[in-house]
Amino acid sequence: MTPTNIHIIGAGVAGLTTALLLSRDSRYRVVVSAKHMPGDYDTEYASPWAGANYMPVSRNGTDASKWDEATWPLLEELAHNHPEAGVHFQGQQSMKRDQSLRAASTNKSSECEIYTRRKDAQSATAAWFADLLSLSPWFKDIVPNFRVLPKEDLTRDIEYATAFTSVCINTAIYLPWLLSQCVKNGVKFRRATFQHIREAVNATDAEHRANVIVNCTGLGAAVLGGVADETVVPARGQIVLVRNETGGRMLNFSGTDDGDDEACYIMGRALGGGTVIGGSYQKGNWNGQVDMDLANRILERAARAFPALTGGTREAKNFDIIRHGVGLRPVREGGARVELERLSDDGVWVVHNYGHGGAGYQSSYGCALAAVKLVDEITVLRARL
Ligand code: FAD
Repeated sequence: MTPTNIHIIGAGVAGLTTALLLSRDSRYRVVVSAKHMPGDYDTEYASPWAGANYMPVSRNGTDASKWDEATWPLLEELAHNHPEAGVHFQGQQSMKRDQSLRAASTNKSSECEIYTRRKDAQSATAAWFADLLSLSPWFKDIVPNFRVLPKEDLTRDIEYATAFTSVCINTAIYLPWLLSQCVKNGVKFRRATFQHIREAVNATDAEHRANVIVNCTGLGAAVLGGVADETVVPARGQIVLVRNETGGRMLNFSGTDDGDDEACYIMGRALGGGTVIGGSYQKGNWNGQVDMDLANRILERAARAFPALTGGTREAKNFDIIRHGVGLRPVREGGARVELERLSDDGVWVVHNYGHGGAGYQSSYGCALAAVKLVDEITVLRARL
């Protein structure tokens, strides 16, 4: 059977994960083209700026929750068996491979902690985080060790808190790792910027005209000709990367005192990657410059919320800063688009996989598996023609 030529546009976590899964199937010849590649830092290239962690905010029963659910076992597997990928359990680096995760973690300082403040109850952030903040979220039986923390362990401003085992992904290691796994499987990579999706049909070479284009352009889907999805907008995320260490804890709060579009979260990256402190979620804001006032608020909030980070001083001046960063999350109203579209009458199809907002890593394998299923359907169709 002649292989199906697949041209993926985009080398963020969506494009690379989809390429990796497709490259495991000998029926497919895969080329990835992108304006930005792993190693680049550009505001419009969201993937390097993410923390990144697994903290589902998807609503129960939606496609998004199914994608998140399908992703967890694969991230868990990477953290267990492939330390070189830069995905690690919070605080459990030394855990032996043969130990059962579910039995191992009774240490509350080794997990992901979600704090809900009394004052955030009616806020937009709390509404957005509703499932994450729930005392009984849909993912409680998916992640290991989900539990409600004892009330007596909480400070007065906290209404309640939950904890579970989760991972943090060091994106500076994980993106190049994904690329290297693709290359090992024969995927070709090239730089290209497309004005129109049709340009991708003949872009690789005349002999290998694409049969399927996979659109993983993230925020680029808002402007790419032939797609121009007006429902795709940025949600600006500003972070600070510091050398201070978390001791294995990953914290997230239901809100801040500085407005609904600001956030407070802290996570330690694997393999000496430092600690990511966030953040913001500024919808419709395209500003790629670092706002130093916001940076100071981010650090002050973290110093107060997690005193151990600054040696108990609670002072932002005791952070040892590696760098500031701004990334634009590719938000799509109504959720990510994982969908099939016929591009032309001569049998070229598009599989869309974009618009993952603030969840591109935690939904990455679920979405990529769904995209691969669509490619498989086209392949069966083509074989019948
Ligand atoms: P991108 O990474 O933006 O990649 C898009 C690709 O398409 C790039 O290679 C680009 O060059 C290419 N492209 C676009 N247009 C064109 C064109 N016309 N021609 C050629 N190439 C093109 N997610 C989580 O799951 N957990 C987290 O903890 C988390 N934290 C985050 C924190 C911050 C501060 C930010 C900014 C994001 C965070 N996210 C998190 C969200 C996550 O980063 C995104 O959902 C994800 O990176 C989107 O990946 P993507 O591959 O779709 O897009």
